Amino acid sequence: MLLELQNVCLELKRNHKYVKILDEVSFQVNQGETVGIVGESGCGKSMTALSIMRLLPEKAKLKGTIKLEDEDVTKFSKKALEKVRGNKLSMIFQDPLTSLNPLHTVGKQIEETLMLHTDLTKSQRKQRVVELLREVGLPRAEELVHEYPHQLSGGMRQRIMIAIAMACNPSLLICDEPTTALDVTVQAQILELMNSLKKMNEMGIIMITHDLGVVAEVCDRVIVMYAGKVVEQAGVKELFQNPKHPYTKGLIESIPKLGERKQILGSIPGTVPAPDKLPSGCKFADRCSYAMDTCRRKMPPMVHITNEHSASCWLLEEEEGEQFVTSGSKRIETTLHH
Ligand code: SF4
Repeated sequence: MLLELQNVCLELKRNHKYVKILDEVSFQVNQGETVGIVGESGCGKSMTALSIMRLLPEKAKLKGTIKLEDEDVTKFSKKALEKVRGNKLSMIFQDPLTSLNPLHTVGKQIEETLMLHTDLTKSQRKQRVVELLREVGLPRAEELVHEYPHQLSGGMRQRIMIAIAMACNPSLLICDEPTTALDVTVQAQILELMNSLKKMNEMGIIMITHDLGVVAEVCDRVIVMYAGKVVEQAGVKELFQNPKHPYTKGLIESIPKLGERKQILGSIPGTVPAPDKLPSGCKFADRCSYAMDTCRRKMPPMVHITNEHSASCWLLEEEEGEQFVTSGSKRIETTLHH
């Protein structure tokens, strides 16, 4: 197992008091596997990634275990963390412009990572920088090393970020909405690049996205998060064909389908509640058209449907309820878009 999160809880200080941002988050990532984390903004996807990277505010309270190749990241010293970041563990963000230094050339920025994490000599580093630029599919690599981020397109900048992330052959690459800022064609090229790099390097990838189209394209398994909790996880095919949690169903119904002239897009009414205003019981209850009294009183348990598929919803506890969800006879409230 490459990565294993067990009962990870995160509390952050907001307005002089601690609020729960992540609640008992547990999942695994295997070597060579791409795991998608999906959900709307404010569901805890990025905070899960930052907890794995330990890039949290100083006063954050992080509990539970985060094992990367059997070592618990939550116990790492600052020095051990610096060593592991960029080495075993790398992350790329949505907007490469804010992550790249505008004052340094592309070559210098990639070389810095190599200098920090490898014993390569200066000439070996220069050679490796050119190789990395070629590996991420950038043309005229020898010239590109002397150029600055502002001289490049958005897609090229994201490729540079991937080159920096790949510089030390990480075991795990975390991508936080890596294609959201790019146009559709470039988005497809970047996803294809990530797929081929994963195969070449046998690394694990966590793909954080609100876009289920991206999930369908690159992920092997999917974790659905809502209000800081994992509400469903399954293999990608199973999740799309047989979603069990009403929130997952709502997300899937929101995807526009090709070839439909008048599209009916399902949308989930309301918004994700703020962490300090979470309802008791099921956190989705205020937006769920299936909600029952029990839902508002008690948190639903995680029900294991198969070895790979689990979901947390009271409907799954009752046989009648399960048929209810599976048949889809009652849909989540939908809004018509023409
Ligand atoms: Fe809806 Fe109840 Fe299931 Fe929560 S537990 S998702 S409120 S049916």
